[in-house]
Amino acid sequence: MVSWSHTVADRLVSLVVPVFNESEVLGAFYDRATRALAALDGMTYEIVFIDDGSSDDSYAQLAAFAAGNPRIRVLKLSRNFGHQIAISAGIDYAKGDCVVILDADLQDPPETVAAMVEQWRQGFDVVYGVRSDRAGETPVKLVTATLFYRLLGRLTNIYIPANVGDFRLLSRRVADQLKLLREKDRFVRGLVSWVGFKQTSITYKRDPRYAGTTKYSFRKMLKLSFDGITSFSTMPLKLATWTGYASAILAVLYLVSVLVQKLLGHTVDGWATIMVAMLFLGSVQLICLGILGEYIGRLFNEVKPRPMYIIEEDLSSGSGTSQTTQ
Ligand code: UDP
Ligand code: MG
Repeated sequence: MVSWSHTVADRLVSLVVPVFNESEVLGAFYDRATRALAALDGMTYEIVFIDDGSSDDSYAQLAAFAAGNPRIRVLKLSRNFGHQIAISAGIDYAKGDCVVILDADLQDPPETVAAMVEQWRQGFDVVYGVRSDRAGETPVKLVTATLFYRLLGRLTNIYIPANVGDFRLLSRRVADQLKLLREKDRFVRGLVSWVGFKQTSITYKRDPRYAGTTKYSFRKMLKLSFDGITSFSTMPLKLATWTGYASAILAVLYLVSVLVQKLLGHTVDGWATIMVAMLFLGSVQLICLGILGEYIGRLFNEVKPRPMYIIEEDLSSGSGTSQTTQ
């Protein structure tokens, strides 16, 4: 009689980790993440590190991890392409049945992956982490983040949950759909919402950064917010129309007042009102031109047939290719 083994083949979870000058945290991250992943029941793991053009010794550290552990894969981008593109490169290369995006700075605890995998096993395609607590972040960041999520919620017609970053699990089919979306000014969490399927969330406590400082400069944050809004809403373009109507109404009211003053014989004063009207309309026009410029710039960026990123080295197990583009 043949005895059948009842062990189901392990399924693979890929951890996608963007790294930009994180040499102070990588050692601690590696220990904690590999321990947390090895503890997952019925799962094997791979970690895809994306070195996003680091100028410190991050890449050397990653290469050492890869040399000592076949489950570690490292992609080196040819320069700093930014966090959103780095995680997109990781999703492109991840082979797992599910893919988890996790920052290297240990703000999002790797142990939380277990709870995400549990939801995935229940049949969910996207499990995003909702931060219940954001320790160690400046009040300015908290306030701007809240305002941004609120504005985004009002302007866009797809659901992007508040207080959520890019820490999330994607099923294979969601990762495959995301791979088809090649826009270059990316707002990954918005794209994940857009893809749809069965989505759910888990709540976790966000820790302070383990070491080092934030790699998201104010400029990068501002770009991310603009990308978020302009990739999902054309509402700002309509601002010109609304302010146009509003100033037309004000102009008609003012016309009445001008005629009355003319009839009463007050014709010379009015310098102040002319200045105010001129400055107001001038600024409205500049703002509207600026908004048009934002969209045209993004159109320009999309129509150039450049790849989203360039891989300088690929230390995936077995393959030693270099210089590929995506
Ligand atoms: N990161 C990146 N490229 C960048 C900026 C950041 O790959 O241009 C990585 C960084 O190493 C970290 C993650 O993206 O793993 C999130 O960055 P950070 O923690 O500095 O952002 P914050 O949590 O402060 O918003
Ligand atoms: Mg961080």
